[in-house]
Amino acid sequence: MASSVKLGSHNDYISQSQGCVVTMKGFKKQAPAVDSQVRIVSKKETAVSTDPVKVSLHDCLACSGCITTAETVMLEQQSTGELLSQLSASNKAVVVSLSPQSRASLAAYYGLTPLQAFKKLSGFLKSLGVKAVFDTSCSRDISLVESCAEFVERFREKKKFPILASSCPGWVCYAEKTHGDDVLPYISAVKSPQQVMGTILKRYVCKSLGLLPEDVYHVTIMPCYDKKLEAAREDFIFEVEGEGLTEGNKPQITEVDCVLTSGEILDLLQTRNVVFGELEEVPLDRVLTNVDEREHLYGVSGGSGGYAECIFRYASRELFGKEISGPLQFKTLRNADFREITLEVDGKQVLKFALVYGFRNIQNIVRQIKAGRCDYHFMEVMACPSGCLNGGGQIKPKKGQTAKELIQQLEGAYLNDVDVREPFENEIVKGLYKEWLGYPSSEKASQIMRTQYHVREKTVANFVSDW
Ligand code: SF4
Ligand code: SF4
Repeated sequence: MASSVKLGSHNDYISQSQGCVVTMKGFKKQAPAVDSQVRIVSKKETAVSTDPVKVSLHDCLACSGCITTAETVMLEQQSTGELLSQLSASNKAVVVSLSPQSRASLAAYYGLTPLQAFKKLSGFLKSLGVKAVFDTSCSRDISLVESCAEFVERFREKKKFPILASSCPGWVCYAEKTHGDDVLPYISAVKSPQQVMGTILKRYVCKSLGLLPEDVYHVTIMPCYDKKLEAAREDFIFEVEGEGLTEGNKPQITEVDCVLTSGEILDLLQTRNVVFGELEEVPLDRVLTNVDEREHLYGVSGGSGGYAECIFRYASRELFGKEISGPLQFKTLRNADFREITLEVDGKQVLKFALVYGFRNIQNIVRQIKAGRCDYHFMEVMACPSGCLNGGGQIKPKKGQTAKELIQQLEGAYLNDVDVREPFENEIVKGLYKEWLGYPSSEKASQIMRTQYHVREKTVANFVSDW
């Protein structure tokens, strides 16, 4: 295996057994001693050396290049072992938030509906001692509502466009480390569904569960390893305010303590010889789960969060008085991972949105932005080809199944028996705004539901070839 991966020889960075894009040449001498590390061991190297090259979480470009090669990666602080030790220590309440992509992955693997998979997984996790299991479709609705408000504000203020979606940490990390100030001002400030869930749980809902935020251990189940890197960002740690707490003794709270992938959950089930299909289907925890009185799951369509679709509908309605019903028809451009949709009013194009998935397409749009030639208003940018359903942490295809067949199966499973509803109609979201946040883009919502990005020093990136 080559010590670096060159763009020219690959369609994209994400494939199994692909080496780190960070070349290892001369890297050992530079690697700093750090606590939390991604461990990269090339197959060639394991044959001759037991001394692995180490890349800190800060150096990793989050491209997912190594992540699909399970034996080469260790994120020890976020593992099923860590979850189990938290459960056995039993000094913290463990709460799990399940992503709809992981739910679809488990449902497809076991031949169940997403609702059945969710209920059975909830039953299994609770049998281990988990206190509650929630659904990040619910926090995603808050992220979408805030993204809609942000878009309309920026449009009315005639700010610079495009706005680039922020929910994919692989893309955000790449932008921070590779393009810095040329691109970061365009990225939406709204937190991803994972971090919005952490914010709601640790800042608000834990109180109603009778818990202090420092006594809650929050685990998310996600379609990729990049979400572990996102959870580890310092921007997503906050200090508890309260009586008697002074500077220096305020507890530091991490919004998400541990991220597990769909594949890691499957491993946990299999190592315990769980017959998933025979597990009991327990009632869902409704506090932060998109399930209605008839036990129907609901959420937006779009396997990567539906940002472009939701904001396009909202902006059409709010800015131009155009109500759009029915599915949106995105036009495929140079490949299936680059699609666009426009709105015309009186023969004039007023909105232009795009879905941009995979680094091949991302590099093209970044080039356009840097050259001042990008005329889109919003782009749903995702690092993985085909988006989040194809994340590097999803359950792998079964024997004889191609990756393409699996994606088609997941797209079917994703909305199987799930009602498509606007996030603005979500009663949980309405309740959170009424009782806590005020209104979309309020001072409070802006303060805690938005984040910032940082130009990262190109430490390891200096070694990247042809990035
Ligand atoms: S940059 Fe990070 S994610 Fe990409 S291959 Fe290297 S260690 Fe893995
Ligand atoms: S596209 Fe989705 S699954 Fe892939 S890295 Fe980004 S957030 Fe993760």
